Amino acid sequence: MRTAPTPIPRIAWAGLSLAGGIVVSLAGLFAGLPGAFAALALAAAPIVILWRRSARRWRARRAALDAPFPEAWSRLLRDWSDHYLRLPDDLCARFEDDLRIFLVEKRITGVGVEVTDELRLLVAASAVTLSLGWPEYEWEQLHEILLYPDEFDRDYEFGSDELAGQAHPWGTIILSVPALRESFRISDDAYHVGFHEFAHLLDLEQTHFDGIPAGFEEPQARRWVEIREREMPRMQRGDSLLDEYGAHDPVEFLAVAVEAFFEPARALRRADPALYELLAAYFQQDPAAWDDTRGLTFDRPARPRPRPPRPGGRGGRRRPRLRSTV
Ligand SMILES: [Zn+2]
Repeated sequence: MRTAPTPIPRIAWAGLSLAGGIVVSLAGLFAGLPGAFAALALAAAPIVILWRRSARRWRARRAALDAPFPEAWSRLLRDWSDHYLRLPDDLCARFEDDLRIFLVEKRITGVGVEVTDELRLLVAASAVTLSLGWPEYEWEQLHEILLYPDEFDRDYEFGSDELAGQAHPWGTIILSVPALRESFRISDDAYHVGFHEFAHLLDLEQTHFDGIPAGFEEPQARRWVEIREREMPRMQRGDSLLDEYGAHDPVEFLAVAVEAFFEPARALRRADPALYELLAAYFQQDPAAWDDTRGLTFDRPARPRPRPPRPGGRGGRRRPRLRSTV
């Protein structure tokens, strides 16, 4: 069970106190007692503002976590989220806590879409699935999620199937609602627009995507590049579990690899154990082992299965097309 963090971490308090002390001391040294009082007032102002903001956040989290997890939400998650179903009990409880914190703190806005509880849960479950293994992770780089009623093009016009989602380097994620629902409905095809776009944000370093998961140490990054260079030609030949959409761009490779890791996990572990192990260590999660434990009677497909044609005649697979190039 996750608890609300202290309003301001101790390390932040220590830094603020040290900085304030230095400012007040210097003012006292050069401007005497009046200067020290003035500096004290100036130093206290940002601390008070930060305290109030942080305390508000803490109270909201506390309130969210103190209430029992709504049974209706559990039902929705059981209906929609395969990852929720595969989790061991302790991680299941953490998933529910992380989900509530995410929903309290992150803004989800519908653009021509009514933002229902169901949609809010699908958005939050997309993010929390990725971050569940990192107890302190806050999705700080995420500014807002916009929900669109349909797929869209690069001019953000609806009615095109060019884009199912988009991650902007300034922290806005756009998700097509039909694509998001489809992603959760079919849980073993290595297609998930939510996982895909949130994975892009994990790659975000100072408004820049580079295709290396943030936080990788040098040896892990080198291993990642080795795997990627080995796998991309196979993807281009259509000889990989990973979708060829990620075959030409290191940034997209990361996102499609994350989709495969959290969906057909056992198939990825079998097809590419090195990639699976690297992602399992990175995410601190082992979905293939959890699938073993729950005793699935079927194995995941070795390759993504083709989609049936969609009503209206458009068929085939649709991908979350790209990260933003804006
Ligand atoms: Zn992408």
